[in-house]
Amino acid sequence: MHILFVEDHIGDVVDHVEFCSDVCHTQWCMWVEDVVKKLSSAEVEHKITDYDLPEIGIVPREVVIKARQGKGLYEGWNGCNEASTSTLCNACDEVIEGLDEGLAPAERDKFIQELREISQRSQDEDEAYILNVLYDLKCQIE
Ligand SMILES: [Zn+2]
Repeated sequence: MHILFVEDHIGDVVDHVEFCSDVCHTQWCMWVEDVVKKLSSAEVEHKITDYDLPEIGIVPREVVIKARQGKGLYEGWNGCNEASTSTLCNACDEVIEGLDEGLAPAERDKFIQELREISQRSQDEDEAYILNVLYDLKCQIE
């Protein structure tokens, strides 16, 4: 698993974002930077909670503020970290298998299966979204 650590204004780690690979980590940072560029000042400056960015999902507010300041979000590969709990990649929604200590093997299998189902649903929705965009484009061209 790859991790983007999120720091507050004094450099304390306050949050983190998880990815399956360095490619997803890099891609996600670029997506967030692109979307944040398009936000108006009013959308950025008066918000105290995390952001629900279009097509990206929930992004910690510190990340949005950093991107807004024009600072690059990607700070390099920080090594392969073992995930303590299985989770989904924030960029591609693939399952990242973790240690899941404390779960019996059958419980762990069930948990990972549930994550796979969520992952599949999310990827189907992404596909439906892309197909809709393509359909709209086609309608505009015709
Ligand atoms: Zn990924």
